[in-house]
Amino acid sequence: MRLRNIFNITSFTKFLLSIPIILLVLYFLPVLGVIMLIARYFVYGSRHYYRAPIVLLIVSLILLIPHGLELAMANFGFELTIPYFREFIGLGIYPSITEYAERIFIIGIVILIVSAIIKTLGEKITAKLSSKLSGALSNYFNQKEQTRREEIKLRTTEAEERIENSKKNIEHVVKCPHCGKVNTVTGTTGKCKSCRNAIQYKEK
Ligand SMILES: [Zn+2]
Repeated sequence: MRLRNIFNITSFTKFLLSIPIILLVLYFLPVLGVIMLIARYFVYGSRHYYRAPIVLLIVSLILLIPHGLELAMANFGFELTIPYFREFIGLGIYPSITEYAERIFIIGIVILIVSAIIKTLGEKITAKLSSKLSGALSNYFNQKEQTRREEIKLRTTEAEERIENSKKNIEHVVKCPHCGKVNTVTGTTGKCKSCRNAIQYKEK
């Protein structure tokens, strides 16, 4: 249920930040439109870096065609007979459409350049960071492995020492090879109490 809600919120956000909606917002509230364009990168990710600015440029160029034709006709002194062209140019809304087209053209260019810079920088930084990070990680793991080995070695040595020590403290019954007296020896070596000769405990 919760996952479904999150999914719905995400798709609603994606719908809100879709290019047609942004184009519409850019007409009425240019600043909000620009904020939405920036927000797009966080929602859609880097896969869509160039889509929005390119669409903005294409739409602006299409919208500027009548204006461009008008300018060309005025400057080069020719007249194209396009039905309703003059009527369309003369519409009260056309100046604001031209203004809108110019605005989204500029926004499109700026976002295209900024995207390219961010993408290039981002890739370079990511590459550098990942190489540094992998180096640091491998160092860390090597260090850890070495520490672990040293610890094992230390523990093994300690255990061996303890065994040796315990051997030293164990009392052994040794029969003297010289006089035959049975002695109790602490550790592995000692002296015969009877003949004072060195005696040794041998493990079987
Ligand atoms: Zn002896």
